[in-house]
Amino acid sequence: MPGKISAEPWWEHVKTPCFVVDEAGLIHNLEILKGVMDRTGCKILLAQKAFSMFYAYPLIRQYLCGTTASGLYEARLGQEYFGKETHVYCPAYRPSEFDDILACADDIVFNSPSQVEKFGAKAKAAGKSIGLRLNPLCSTQEGHAIYDPCAPGSRLGTTLENFNPKVMTMLDGLHFHTLCEQDSDALEQTVEAVETQFGPWLSMVKWINLGGGHHITRPGYDIPRLERIITHLKNTYNVEVYLEPGEAVVLNAGYLVSSVLEIMENDMHLAILDTSAACHMPDVLEMPYRPPVMDSGKAKEKPYTYRLGGPTCLAGDVIGDYSFDRPLVEGRRIVFEDMALYTMVKTNTFNGMPLPDILWRDKEGKITVVKSFGYEDFKGRLS
Ligand SMILES: *Cc1c(COP(=O)(O)O)cnc(C)c1O
Repeated sequence: MPGKISAEPWWEHVKTPCFVVDEAGLIHNLEILKGVMDRTGCKILLAQKAFSMFYAYPLIRQYLCGTTASGLYEARLGQEYFGKETHVYCPAYRPSEFDDILACADDIVFNSPSQVEKFGAKAKAAGKSIGLRLNPLCSTQEGHAIYDPCAPGSRLGTTLENFNPKVMTMLDGLHFHTLCEQDSDALEQTVEAVETQFGPWLSMVKWINLGGGHHITRPGYDIPRLERIITHLKNTYNVEVYLEPGEAVVLNAGYLVSSVLEIMENDMHLAILDTSAACHMPDVLEMPYRPPVMDSGKAKEKPYTYRLGGPTCLAGDVIGDYSFDRPLVEGRRIVFEDMALYTMVKTNTFNGMPLPDILWRDKEGKITVVKSFGYEDFKGRLS
């Protein structure tokens, strides 16, 4: 109705389940990242692995220098929808796809001297900038071995023992990625390890890429220390410095909105939602972690505690125990926060689960359905 302002919040009006990416939240992060670039002269790329909503690329490209990819498809997406610089790193390239990689990427990072020997000359002949990923064997994270590239037996990156100085003549850059949701003290420790082990080679390259895992946009992150590290590397080795965060670009900039389908009892209150941890937020089970839910508390903190679970037949498809001020009822919206990162890129249709629609909430609060999914998206991946 013209002129009528709805008293209801926006999440009451969307069809669930859906991801809603928030422009204001994204801009907040992009301004912080741009500040780091402006003050240090470093270059920041979007790691598409965490967030590939290409609808947002025209906005992100106003701030960041390009994208990085984990292989051909992401590189192609970056080139087609983002432009600027397209970087790619893959633990091992397929010979059959390497020409296509050369057609979309500007900077190609190899995982081992052997990969450089296999593909490096071809990449150089095509005018590409090439780098080698190092593994400084410096674990700075506890608990998440699945996210620690420096864990024993890791295949990610070249250790000093396996480093072959002969390939240095071909390389334009060196790369390392060892962090996950970490502050700049962990980066400082890692850079020290890299300098101790690979110091003599750092001034032989044009760029050093510090990977991702920098939680730069988290409140309390020590940005001045990050900037000192970048400036130190630039000044000491006369290199360009790249960072390629994924998570930090979209931290707290998205939601997964779901509805309660059913309430049950079994020793405790259970709520079945129209969203699934296994299908829509697999990191909740893989990492594992407890996603924030709007207006909720920990179990027993508020008067009504429920175990929130998905509508699949997987017994472990449980998001967690949360408490609320009022009893949950069928149709009530449950809004998961910080759901832009590592969600849309990881969804699946196990159990024939529908994929959540993808919505955009602009800075004025206007909501657009960017993409909706249906039966064909489930069937299309099968035969
Ligand atoms: C995962 C990854 C990133 C991005 O990591 P975030 O934790 O999302 O910042 C960057 N570079 C490489 C090589 C990665 O594997």
